[in-house]
Amino acid sequence: MVKETERVEALERLAAVISECRKCPLWENTHNAVPGEGDAGARLMLIGEAPGKQEDLTGRPFVGRAGKLLDALLAGIGLSRREVFIANIVKHRPPGNRDPRDEEIRVCTPYLEEQIRIIRPEVIVTLGRHSSRYILSFLPVGFDRITDIRGTVYPCSLFGHPVRLIPTLHPAAALYNPAYRKALEEDFQVVGRELGGSPAEG
Ligand code: URA
Repeated sequence: MVKETERVEALERLAAVISECRKCPLWENTHNAVPGEGDAGARLMLIGEAPGKQEDLTGRPFVGRAGKLLDALLAGIGLSRREVFIANIVKHRPPGNRDPRDEEIRVCTPYLEEQIRIIRPEVIVTLGRHSSRYILSFLPVGFDRITDIRGTVYPCSLFGHPVRLIPTLHPAAALYNPAYRKALEEDFQVVGRELGGSPAEG
């Protein structure tokens, strides 16, 4: 059993490396790297796409409007963000919030992989098509649209570690779309069940 303090220290060392990362030019237009945050021994890890404006200014993931929705989705299954780990596939904000490029994902994702190896979560939720496409590239699972696979539980081995993977929509996509919000709420109930909790009333 890896000690909690060892995990915390390993994540802190990694975050320091990420904050100095110059492997791609994204850092040039940013205020802060956004390595990720939460419980180093979390049972649930959530993986988004890339930091936005508020995340870049604060150095923290999902603190803008999409983050507020993420907090509500977590509360719906009885969790707070302190109890989970939240990260992104890309750790510096792409200019103008454009989609991360393949090369940026390629050079940045070893950091995420190391985070997964340190935390060893039981359940990983990928938020949106970019993080879902990246993580599902390790499985024999392809998809055209995230809506085709959302809420599906994929038991698999990721970086030598058994995990249940659940792709879902990106919370930002649900901000102005009630049907997407409902879909996200449903998928989070699946997450709650996988973690063994009782689904929230509602
Ligand atoms: N969107 C993301 O994908 N990640 C963040 O951290 C914030 C918004």
